[in-house]
Amino acid sequence: MKFKSIIIYLSVLCFTGSKSSAQNPIIKHIFTADPAPLVHNDTVFLYTGHDTASVHDTNYKMPDWHVFSSADMVNWKDHGALLSPKTFSWGTGEAYAAQCIEYKGKFYWFVATFHKNDVNSKGGAAIGVAVSDSPTGPFKDAIGKALITNEMTTDMKHGWDDIDPTIFVDDDGQVYLYWGNDSCKWVKLKNNMIELDGPITAFKPKNYIEGPWVYKRNGQYYLVYAGAGTKPEMIEYCMSTSPVGPWEYKGVIQGNVSNSFTTHPGILDFKGKSYFFYHNGALPTGGSYRRSICVDYMYYNPDGTIQKIIETTTGVEKVK
Ligand code: CA
Repeated sequence: MKFKSIIIYLSVLCFTGSKSSAQNPIIKHIFTADPAPLVHNDTVFLYTGHDTASVHDTNYKMPDWHVFSSADMVNWKDHGALLSPKTFSWGTGEAYAAQCIEYKGKFYWFVATFHKNDVNSKGGAAIGVAVSDSPTGPFKDAIGKALITNEMTTDMKHGWDDIDPTIFVDDDGQVYLYWGNDSCKWVKLKNNMIELDGPITAFKPKNYIEGPWVYKRNGQYYLVYAGAGTKPEMIEYCMSTSPVGPWEYKGVIQGNVSNSFTTHPGILDFKGKSYFFYHNGALPTGGSYRRSICVDYMYYNPDGTIQKIIETTTGVEKVK
């Protein structure tokens, strides 16, 4: 690095050290994907995938999951790679989309990776659960085996349909897990978070591809997902009066993102505002396998429907 470059680099560091408004992408020192935010003690914790593919690679390289935190939605601290498929004795392959939630004082991180060929599965994508007493770990395998294996769903014939878990706890305490590629599946979980509590149901929301995110707001249930779009994906959604449907299709809320085939929703209300996390390929040398997490505002209409989300380079303002 030449002297002039060092000066520019230091200037950038100083500039980004204390920001008043975010600049998308919000994570710039590594490539990140598949955002899943949660709030704990007035702090936002952001659970992410980690892209390490080279600029020449034509598939995903995702060795681990990172946790970031921010009290102001603008300055993000990287707590490091706190979980990887190696954490799970049955796991192998890449660290696909995941979501962590707080439940009864513990943090349950639902993840998708691939399963070794063993007595429990012949392989294929699978969903596991890691648990910790803290949002930043240490996390350990909560079960010692996968929660969902490829063999447990047979509506899709490809081996990677059991990916992209999202977890939702209703006001009555019932826990629901949703996931899936090409079809969306759901199942009730027992309140120990590590056992199924009923049969798995598969369904196909309009244009559904993958990446579901389920939540409840003002008494209405939302199922937001990566839809077929124009190939690249877009973000589409359904609403319902029940966590098990029927789901009414409501349309596209985000079009194609910059320079990435996939996109992925992560939704959060924090200190009076609604936020939409997603990823794109907008960092220098970025792309579909070198993605970056962004956040923009999300706005609801009076009837609860979601307004079109605008992908910005400016991001969101600092929360006081
Ligand atoms: Ca399956």
